[in-house]
Amino acid sequence: MLVLHGTGVSSGIAIGKAYVLHRERPEVPEYALPEHLIEDEVRRFNSAIATARTQLERIRNHIPKSAPPEISSIIDTHLLILHDKMISEAPVVTMRQKQCNAEWALKTQSDLLAAVFEQMDDPYLRSKKTDVSQVVDRILRNLLMSTDEEHEQITDALDGQIVVANDLTPADTVLLKHTRIGAFVTNLGGPISHTAILARSLEIPAIVAVHNATRYIRNGEDLIVDGKLGVLVVAAERSIVAEYQRRQKDIVHLKRELETIKASRSETRDGCAIILNANIELPDDIKAATKVAAQGIGLYRTEFLYMNRPDLPGEEEQYKAYAKVAKAVAGKPVTIRTLDLGADKRVDGGSRGSDTVTINPALGLRAVRLCLHDTSLFRPQLRAILRASAHGQVRLMIPMLSSLGEMFRVLDLIEETKAELKHKNEPFDSELQVGGMIEVPAAAVSADLFAPHLDFLSIGTNDLIQYTLAIDRVDEAVNYLYDPLHPSVLRLIAMTIRAGKSAGIPVAMCGEMAGDARYTRLLLGLGLSEFSMHPSALLEIKKIVRESDLAELRRFADKVLDTRDTSELHALVDKMNES
Ligand code: PEP
Ligand code: MG
Repeated sequence: MLVLHGTGVSSGIAIGKAYVLHRERPEVPEYALPEHLIEDEVRRFNSAIATARTQLERIRNHIPKSAPPEISSIIDTHLLILHDKMISEAPVVTMRQKQCNAEWALKTQSDLLAAVFEQMDDPYLRSKKTDVSQVVDRILRNLLMSTDEEHEQITDALDGQIVVANDLTPADTVLLKHTRIGAFVTNLGGPISHTAILARSLEIPAIVAVHNATRYIRNGEDLIVDGKLGVLVVAAERSIVAEYQRRQKDIVHLKRELETIKASRSETRDGCAIILNANIELPDDIKAATKVAAQGIGLYRTEFLYMNRPDLPGEEEQYKAYAKVAKAVAGKPVTIRTLDLGADKRVDGGSRGSDTVTINPALGLRAVRLCLHDTSLFRPQLRAILRASAHGQVRLMIPMLSSLGEMFRVLDLIEETKAELKHKNEPFDSELQVGGMIEVPAAAVSADLFAPHLDFLSIGTNDLIQYTLAIDRVDEAVNYLYDPLHPSVLRLIAMTIRAGKSAGIPVAMCGEMAGDARYTRLLLGLGLSEFSMHPSALLEIKKIVRESDLAELRRFADKVLDTRDTSELHALVDKMNES
């Protein structure tokens, strides 16, 4: 029996067989071949291509009918790339000219293509580089592996198995949802990476930052995942398995208990109403939000509509998706966040490969910056959101604001879009509420400057913590520095809440901190009255709200803000949670 530790990012217990994904780029050998062997080498290359085609077609046939169309789109893109002359023919020319082996000819061609993609101005086309590299890796593995070593693909059905991988992108995680996996474990990753957030919202138990998990674990080995404590047990003894089975039953029992407060009001003991909303990533997630009686959608991460597909969603497709959500929640507010692509969220689900440039993408052209840089990407989305506002209580939210200038440019674009729609007689809500995310420290510090121009603010603690503490949210090496209770983070949160109150606009929180039971009472004490979180956390948070006395928590929160000593601060928060 072996016990490994990592960071538990999505609670729950899973017991199942390991399914190890080896997706690191294989080592590519280079050697010269005598002329008479070149045609054999070409045949070997063509056969690897044919195998790749069969594999991709098989994967496509295994995709469940219920899966969204973007899942088969990614496979179609790979098939198109596979058939492109640049991949299927150019390496053959190199083999014949340079008399080299197939792997090397393919690698040379793939390096050339990567350089071409890298120079493209269009960020969308530039990101297609990852698709090409995934197809090249597939062919390389076919060339390097013996035929019985059938390599993995995460789009196969994986009922109950535990995926072990070096790293998973948010797009991978969306794909995993449809394979019915039991849990996942990765060598890399952090607790507020988008992959971790998705795991929580999909209710997939998950542990990240288990160093060398892919090295120690073999395919088919028996695993136990405790996603809360971050414990991974390999080949557990029978008594240990029985203990975890018992804990699984306890979790089911607890969930049933929480069900009983579903219909109860969300208010504190002293009668203050607290809004509990849900975060969603795809229109289908509405079902989970409705199941826990969320009062609305506090964050709809629209970028997931752009992932795992070869093309961009057009205005019409976006309009249908947003209108579907607006109608499905029937009169409750839906906060549609405009595109937050960039950083770890790519259009094509590309992973952070070793070939990625080393500049920090989290500080780059992301979210509202990308949208303002390329308004041809942004305008269709604004039109789609405005049109969807005719079908329900839609609110528009701008991510990653860091300057007033950005906010004014977006507000102008919204006004222009309204005029355009009016001209075309397209219905929309002329009173559409527009809010801003406070997730960059600069915006938190100047929240009082933003607030008078917006209808609401929403604190994105995932990025706020990342940028305040200078810790990359996907880098496991700095996970230990992640601390929502860091005094600087708490001060920025308090400042934002105060700024909203002075301007008379609501302040919500939609980062992971809002769905973490350890911080609910402190946030209530700081004056937060609107929380948005993954649906699976909502009832637990409601239970805490209903057992809290706001007047008492306010006194505690003031003390927390005044406390200088970290351990004293943590002790105070613990005391708050016990009160
Ligand atoms: C956040 O940063 O807290 C947030 C809610 O946005 P995202 O996690 O999508 O970056
Ligand atoms: Mg964010």
